[in-house]
Amino acid sequence: MQYVSTRGSAPALDFEGVTLAGLASDGGLYVPAEWPRFSADDIRDMRGLGYPDLAARVMAPFVAGSLTEDELLALCHKVYGDFGHAAVTPLVQLDQQHWLLELFHGPTLAFKDVALQLLGRLFETFLARRDERLTIVGATSGDTGSAAIQAVAGLERVEIFMLHPKGRVSDVQRRQMTTVRAPNVHNLAIEGSFDDAQAHVKRMFTDGDVIHTLNLGAVNSINWARLMAQVVYYFASALQLGAPERTVAYSVPTGNFGDVFAGYVAAKMGLPIERLIVATNINDILHRALSVGDYSAGGVTPTITPSMDIQVSSNFERLLFDAGGRDGAAMAEQMRAFEASKAMQLTNAQAEGASALFTSARADQVETARALQWAWRHAGQVIDPHTGVGLHAARALAADGTVPAGVPLVTLATAHPAKFPDAVERAVGMRPALPARVGDLFGREESFVEIAGDYAATRDYVLGNAGNA
Ligand SMILES: *Cc1c(COP(=O)(O)O)cnc(C)c1O
Repeated sequence: MQYVSTRGSAPALDFEGVTLAGLASDGGLYVPAEWPRFSADDIRDMRGLGYPDLAARVMAPFVAGSLTEDELLALCHKVYGDFGHAAVTPLVQLDQQHWLLELFHGPTLAFKDVALQLLGRLFETFLARRDERLTIVGATSGDTGSAAIQAVAGLERVEIFMLHPKGRVSDVQRRQMTTVRAPNVHNLAIEGSFDDAQAHVKRMFTDGDVIHTLNLGAVNSINWARLMAQVVYYFASALQLGAPERTVAYSVPTGNFGDVFAGYVAAKMGLPIERLIVATNINDILHRALSVGDYSAGGVTPTITPSMDIQVSSNFERLLFDAGGRDGAAMAEQMRAFEASKAMQLTNAQAEGASALFTSARADQVETARALQWAWRHAGQVIDPHTGVGLHAARALAADGTVPAGVPLVTLATAHPAKFPDAVERAVGMRPALPARVGDLFGREESFVEIAGDYAATRDYVLGNAGNA
């Protein structure tokens, strides 16, 4: 399988190439040159497969030429055999129409583990082949950092420097990063905000002293391999709910548009998806883009769903490219104008292509809390606030008939409620406990260095400690 950039001028790469590259050299994002397609019979043949076998079946076309089927299957068994639930992503029924797809049974209790656990192993496999090493530098406001650290801890050819804003991530999130004791993991608590930490990371990628010394890598959701791994649970859940004979709809708590774009990919591959609901919090650039075609960035307002507090959604470019007719030169021009003005209108082709499958809805904090209360009172389920945003959107669009009553509607449960205990307790009056498998999180020793807020101190620490793993 070959991959092309959304901005048309970077070289096409194979799967190994896009996994190690992350962003394309023209600033675009990689997408498959064409969508692989499964027939209804192919999908019927997937019934009854365990998650690791299904994962290998669904991902095989994307990795063709870079991994053999046996290599892929072995990786999937290694990665998904370690999850905290035998089904990996179990479905839970809420009522006649509504279901939850629990994506939080990985080591850091959020859906990002499903893809990052695989990405860590892919890095190791491809780096060994090339006899190279990779230094990952990232900034996190919470979920991504911990999932990335857990994904690479102990790997031989990868090391990771993760910056978090000192005192500004939750205790659970910080401890999920700082209690991982592995020689290739470096936690840096930076004075300042998340944006300051993020600015340091961006600068390191253009700093000659750094990029001529280290082979730098990134793990954010622009990496194609992450999206690919997320396609699998759409297949797993739809098969259980009757696909390919029956269509299924999904509501997806959305930030960077990675998780819901994986649903679009599943539909392109032949999975009968009735509708994809893009659920946003009050930082609703995507809701505005999909409902009235206005994609314009505002400021970010902090909410009880921090992983969805975004200004722009990087993966949205992939949809605009594909739905708009795959014109890389036009896309490059559109994104250049957006970067200058922070606003753009979708073209007619983009708006029509998107509305064929996507609907959007937003939830404010009161609506989110009400969704948590409904899940608790009517189905005995304690859910996290991100999941609450998705459930609010699902219930609203089922009530107004956008999703017909006979169609199962699955809300993606993106985090375990114990990751956000304060907001959950305020909504439903009880404090969710951490699952037993991470239960000693508060007993383990933490390890991190504190760094002053300036860029030079951060860079010097990374250069001084890289390669000592
Ligand atoms: C990252 C995250 C999201 C948003 O997912 P995207 O792929 O960025 O749209 C939603 N919920 C939780 C809990 C997350 O960690």
